[in-house]
Order: sequence, then C-alpha cells, then structure tokens
Amino acid sequence: MTRVPRILHLAFRPFDVELREPFGIATGTQTVAKNLLVEVGLEGGALGIGEAAPFPAVNGETREDAERALASGRDRLLGLEALTWRAAARRAHDVLASSPSALCAFETALLDALTRSLGISLFAFFGGAKAELISDITLTTGDAEQSAAQAASAYQRGFRVLKVKVGGAPLQRDLERLQRAAAVAPDAALVLDANASLRAEEAIRLVRALGALRERVVLFEQPTPPSDVHALRAVREAGIKVAADESARTLADLEELIDEQACDVINVKIMKTGLVGALDMALGARAAGIELMIGGMVETRLAMTTSACLAGGLGGFSFVDLDTPLFLAKDPFVGGFEDAWPRLKLGSITHGHGVHGG
Ligand SMILES: [Mg+2]
Repeated sequence: MTRVPRILHLAFRPFDVELREPFGIATGTQTVAKNLLVEVGLEGGALGIGEAAPFPAVNGETREDAERALASGRDRLLGLEALTWRAAARRAHDVLASSPSALCAFETALLDALTRSLGISLFAFFGGAKAELISDITLTTGDAEQSAAQAASAYQRGFRVLKVKVGGAPLQRDLERLQRAAAVAPDAALVLDANASLRAEEAIRLVRALGALRERVVLFEQPTPPSDVHALRAVREAGIKVAADESARTLADLEELIDEQACDVINVKIMKTGLVGALDMALGARAAGIELMIGGMVETRLAMTTSACLAGGLGGFSFVDLDTPLFLAKDPFVGGFEDAWPRLKLGSITHGHGVHGG
C-alpha cells in the first residue's frame, strides 16, 4: 500500500535580513527585508522549509499579514496529504488567500519536505530541463554616479544583463543613469523596470530619448500602472518589448493580458502567486506564446533557489532575475544553488531545494 504522508507539523518564525545597501525602486526603498521562515514536517519525519518575502513597496503586503494568515490557517493545513500536493495547494490557496507570500512559504516547505522524502531535488521534481541559469543584476534607484559604480562592478563580475530601476525621478535623471551605466558596461543588455510608475507616453519618451542606446534595451518591465493593461499595450505598440510584473499577479490577470495582447513577457514570481500558482502561470503563459521571466522580491537564497528550481526545472525562461542574495549583508542560509555569479547551478542539489540553516 502506498504510504501517504500527512502534514504533522507547521511552524513559522520571523527573521530579518540586513541589506548591504538600500534596495531602491520607484515606489519605495527597503533597507531590511522582514521575511518569515516556514517549516513543514511530514509523517515519517521529513522536514521542509520555505521563505515568505513580502515587499510592502511592491504589493503592500507585510510580514504581519503573512504571520496572521498562517496563525489563523494552521489548523486547516495540518493533516493535508503531501503526495497529492496539488490538492493540498488548492486548500492552502483558500486558507492563505490574504497572503501570497505565506502561501509561497507553505508550498515551498511542503514540496521541499515531499521531495526530500522521495530522495529527489526540487529541480528534478519540476522537470530538470536546464541545470544552469544566468542571472541579470539590478541597478537600484539612485544618482548617475551610483548607477555607473554599480554597473562597473557588475560588469567586472561578469554580468551582461543589467536591470535598471527607472521612474520615480525626472526623465533626464534616468537618461543620465542609463547612459553612464551603459558606458561602463559596453556590451551589456539593458532591462528597464519602472515598477508601474510611468504613464505610457513617459515610458515611450524615455526609450526614444536613449537614441542609439535604445538598441541595447531588450525589455521594459512594467512601465505603467498595474490595472491598466491598455497602457502596457500602448508601450508595446511603440515597438518596445514589454514585460508584465505588477499587472500579472493571478491567472485571471494573465488571461486578460493574453486577451488584450498587452505584453511579450511575464515576470513569474513565487511571492506573487505562491509556488504552485507560479508553475501554473508559467505553463499558461508558455501555452499562449508569452515569454517567461523569473524574478523575486528581496529574498535570501532559500526563496531564490526555489525559484531557480522552478525555472530551471521547466526550462525556457528567457530572462532570469534572481540576484537579490547579492544585496544581503549576510545570507542566513546555506546550500541550494551553487553560485558562480552570474551563473546559478542546480545540478548538485540532491534533496528538495537543498537549502538549510536560518
Ligand atoms: Mg519588476
């Protein structure tokens, strides 16, 4: 008879992660990531861990929201069967509806425990398509001087895709930041991310003002407000490749983006949808011919390795933005992906996501 391990143990505790320098985006800045560790234990003894990384400036969600959701939902999650993980995830989706990051942490811990008990890696579990990913690196908001310094050091480390946070400042300032960064990173591709802070015409003006540099802009991520898919489409219609991030939080959002032909790429993030929701978003987008990007909030190597296992496992992700472990003063976790920045290697993980500590 098949053993069907149930969830016997569910615990969580907060942890703070100090950043090396403030992580600035158009809508706010984070200096400490206030994250949450979730632990799931199965019948038979397998233990798994997962991370919740709410980012208030992106979606208004806080760690307290995640803690509240887990505390009030705990009793309805205990006893769920791990092998039938999609059924468990459906239940968790209802129970933790108020906090996507808590859902993500729970599902990560559950699938970590399950795959550890099965003796396989989470990377193999998702399909094992591609054991190496190459990440971009983020140039946070700041002045042109900072942008040039960040770009020079990233370029020296081998990064060839620079993701530049724009918006929340006058166009001229962003132009200078982009020009200075591009000058010290001669053959690097540029991804712009406005975190929903611009109007369509401002985004188009910014790209056009780049002149010859425009050729190096391979993607413009979420130039315009989340709920306005038409603005996103307007930028796309100006000949700029567009990714939806804040506009793509749910499967219903994805359907609308597909119907309206509003984006070329979606940024899949496990903190927006949960891990299983991210899997479904990726499959749905791929079926509709939309390209995939894997990204994250301000996360340690625990959540980043989980995302890498999903993206590497499925394969076919055109854009990889898993760099936030580089921004941490000290990562409380060890194990997981092997980092040889900008390369992330998954082939040496043997059980679950392979991350421990914390
Ligand atoms: Mg983004």
